[in-house]
Amino acid sequence: MKILTVIGARPQFIKAAVVSRAFAIHRSEVREILVHTGQHYDTNMSDVFFEELSISHPDYNLGIGGGSHAQNTGRMLEKLEALMVTEKPALVLVYGDTDSTLAGALAAAKLHIPVAHVEAGLRSYNRRMPEEINRILTDHVSTFLFVPSKAALRNLLNEGIPKEKIHVVGDVMCDAARYFEECARKPDWFDALDIEIGEFVLCTIHRAENTNDSQNIKDIFEGLVGSCMPVILPLHPRTRIVLQAMGIPLPTGIRVVDPVGYLEMTWLEMNCRIIATDSGGIQKEAYFHNKMCVTLREETEWTELVDNGFNIVAGTNSYKITEALTQKNLMVNSETSLYGQADAATKIAALIVENYM
Ligand code: UDP
Repeated sequence: MKILTVIGARPQFIKAAVVSRAFAIHRSEVREILVHTGQHYDTNMSDVFFEELSISHPDYNLGIGGGSHAQNTGRMLEKLEALMVTEKPALVLVYGDTDSTLAGALAAAKLHIPVAHVEAGLRSYNRRMPEEINRILTDHVSTFLFVPSKAALRNLLNEGIPKEKIHVVGDVMCDAARYFEECARKPDWFDALDIEIGEFVLCTIHRAENTNDSQNIKDIFEGLVGSCMPVILPLHPRTRIVLQAMGIPLPTGIRVVDPVGYLEMTWLEMNCRIIATDSGGIQKEAYFHNKMCVTLREETEWTELVDNGFNIVAGTNSYKITEALTQKNLMVNSETSLYGQADAATKIAALIVENYM
């Protein structure tokens, strides 16, 4: 059987790395065609993941990035439809909640090609997030919905998605964290920062709701500085552009570096004191590496982390951020296995193969 996988953004490369490896075990039955939409294209947002996570070179690169949501999604739809007509896959596989996810799912569904959605069922219940729109629409045109958590299963059932379509497999990011943690790599520049291991805040900021609002960014910075700990901030290219355009100065104590590869990010996560982020994936990686997470958003899709005391949703209130970062109880126990047993990719590949044999 031929599977056409659509990826385009940083977190999707990481998820695809483990799922594609699981498909490789079924080599005699499955041929995977990898399509990179080009949504993320910088070397440190794309190429580095293919190299260090040994992801096969994409069969197609559509080179679509840099436009608005509508421009990107529209251009992707057109090119993906043409590709699907030529390649005639038995199934289209998409990950997460980006414009590439939606375009892949929509193009396939209209050609009556079954869609498999990995990381289905997540909801922030905030429709101002472009990601929320992408995941709701993708879930509702999917045939296989692979969900990472019980909360995601409940969300889908509440929306009337038939339960036969839903498979609770665990989180492929847990697979990735466990598989690659042994290869975690200290960044070359770390020693030069003169920061003690275990005594820094690791921070990332890239959600549109934060980058589009200068007051939010200023408040987040104030909250970070208030912790009196050094902060390492691998800066997303979009956030860098926004900071420059808005003329927001970087406070001393916040050490800005370029985005790092996954192995360096894993090392930073394993060796920081605490994580502050508006990323979806990094909230869970904090838990996988036994670190507390302070979420720089007003809500999270990963509610089980909050319910178990591993994540504090601080929003952009500087006082709440400082208070959360300086809390005394930093105990996190990832043995609780909220996201499966690091075998989600194996289950996904097996379920798909089983259904098509
Ligand atoms: N990540 C990385 N380098 C960085 C920042 C993030 O490798 O400089 C990884 C991180 O470890 C996680 C993924 O990128 O696996 C999360 O991506 P991102 O925060 O861009 O997207 P989201 O998860 O919010 O969709």
